[in-house]
Amino acid sequence: MDKNEKHKIKAQKQKERVDANVAKAQIERGIVIVITGNGKGKTTSGFGTVARCVGHGYKAAVVQFIKGQWDCGERELLESHSVPFAVMGTGFTWNTQDRESDIKAATEVWQEAKKFLANPDYHLVLLDEITYMLGYDYLPKDEVLTAIKNRPLNQSVVVTGRGAITELRDLADTVSEIKDVKHAFKAGVKARKGVDW
Ligand code: ATP
Ligand code: MG
Repeated sequence: MDKNEKHKIKAQKQKERVDANVAKAQIERGIVIVITGNGKGKTTSGFGTVARCVGHGYKAAVVQFIKGQWDCGERELLESHSVPFAVMGTGFTWNTQDRESDIKAATEVWQEAKKFLANPDYHLVLLDEITYMLGYDYLPKDEVLTAIKNRPLNQSVVVTGRGAITELRDLADTVSEIKDVKHAFKAGVKARKGVDW
């Protein structure tokens, strides 16, 4: 058997396997996706899914639990496509010097998130960096998990951030952990507008 024939047989077998798996997946409902890990690409992935959703004419909402140092480019673009953004008002302090004001800010933006999670008009809700709020107990864990669990049937949720807690991973349908192989910043390259934010 020559190389081309071998390839054809292998490809055919693979196609059969894929077709069988596609036939098996028959459940229609929204899913929970967790994108965690220390590598770059979590928020990028979340916004990629929002773009996908909006591109198909569905409604999506974005909730950001950490206010970045810079305004992210996605916001400008997506707000002009009627995607509502709820962003934590004050900057989250990494060293938790002001725990109380962080909790207040997190709680405020969570009220907005809850509304999206209860509204079947939204096909997708992005909860960007919410993992930290759970990891630090800034938000009531049970309330957050329950709100995600009890969302409308057809709504999907993307959760991003490092260190996703076990309960969140358990609740999710899809969990991806992005591995930090290397990052330009560590070689002294400045974060770039239009690339990193
Ligand atoms: P991005 O928004 O680029 O998808 P991310 O959401 O995966 O990144 P965060 O932990 O939210 O990562 O960090 C946000 C910022 O930190 C981004 O500017 C990103 O480029 C940078 N960053 C992400 N991962 C790393 C890393 N491993 N080392 C250094 N900087 C990082
Ligand atoms: Mg991020």
